Amino acid sequence: MPFFISAKTFKHQAKVLVKYWPFKTLKTTEARQLLSQLYGYKDNHHYRKILAQPSVALIPLSEEVLLTHYKPWVKKLADLGSINQTQAKAILHKLWPAYLDEKAPLSDKLYSAKFRFHGECNDFLSAEKASVPIDYAFDDRPSVKDAIEALGVPHTEVGAIKVDDHWVEFKHLMMDGQQVEVFPNPYSQTPYPLPYKPQGVPSFLLDVHLAALARYLRLAGFDCLHEGKDYGDAVLAEVAATDEHILLTRDIGLLKRSKVKYGRWIRNTSPEYQFKEVVDHYRLHDFFKPLSRCVRCNGAIEAVDIEEVRDRVPERVLEWQTDFKQCARCSQVYWKGSHFEKIMQILQKGQGQGS
Ligand SMILES: [Zn+2]
Repeated sequence: MPFFISAKTFKHQAKVLVKYWPFKTLKTTEARQLLSQLYGYKDNHHYRKILAQPSVALIPLSEEVLLTHYKPWVKKLADLGSINQTQAKAILHKLWPAYLDEKAPLSDKLYSAKFRFHGECNDFLSAEKASVPIDYAFDDRPSVKDAIEALGVPHTEVGAIKVDDHWVEFKHLMMDGQQVEVFPNPYSQTPYPLPYKPQGVPSFLLDVHLAALARYLRLAGFDCLHEGKDYGDAVLAEVAATDEHILLTRDIGLLKRSKVKYGRWIRNTSPEYQFKEVVDHYRLHDFFKPLSRCVRCNGAIEAVDIEEVRDRVPERVLEWQTDFKQCARCSQVYWKGSHFEKIMQILQKGQGQGS
């Protein structure tokens, strides 16, 4: 059943629509067409016909009626005019300021959903929000991935998402009233495990501030891209995307970049604990290959004949050591010196399972 709109109001609203339409100039005839359809008529012609000879019952418009139809009308206007719902909402307020501005403020979002975060995902939330349902208000239909990040949790930390008891992927579009459960990675009991990595020995990319962690990981034999120079977030995200490295960082914003597929926000601040954190999280315990990778440049270390490196090793070392290795990339020479035992102790501590 169409709504009753007087000719005067209709004419005024068509002008408002033309004036505030967000895109290309809207013609008055198009504005009239949109309005007549919004209010339940077939088209402008239909509206004029019924107005001239009211043969059907019309719903009178009151504040109450308008508020009841507010959300469906925002959606309908957005669909009819091919604009987004935020724009449609703003226009509806221009059409009915007296009824809407106070009872349905423009700043209020149209829809809301409840999110509950589990396990390590709560590391990004304040104490009072951890593990309890959180309200998330939105317009339009954001993806669940965007909603999760807006609440503070980078997508790289998420292992599985359940919406109203169904497992979903990142691209799931939010709807009013949904209940969302977000689980940390890795999470295996879902048909849609979200990007995490391992399955074999992973490679890492570390931001400029994690030099000490890169050193430990290389000592343990893991492939670690790290430069002692800050190339900026965009470059890091690009490299992480291209080579599918796992990005390790203490910069939460960096992990929210859409190009980054695999990554982790490093919780600990001390390098030894950071190393253990990475080993435990990515289950690297069985993949240690100490002294196989150059600490300086990440190149592979290979056995080398003593004669080839003699001129680059101190005299006192040559007196007792005969076993030498060399980086295939930067030619750095390695041998098991007095510091070797200390390094092995640190690595073994990191390798120990659990805490
Ligand atoms: Zn090297």
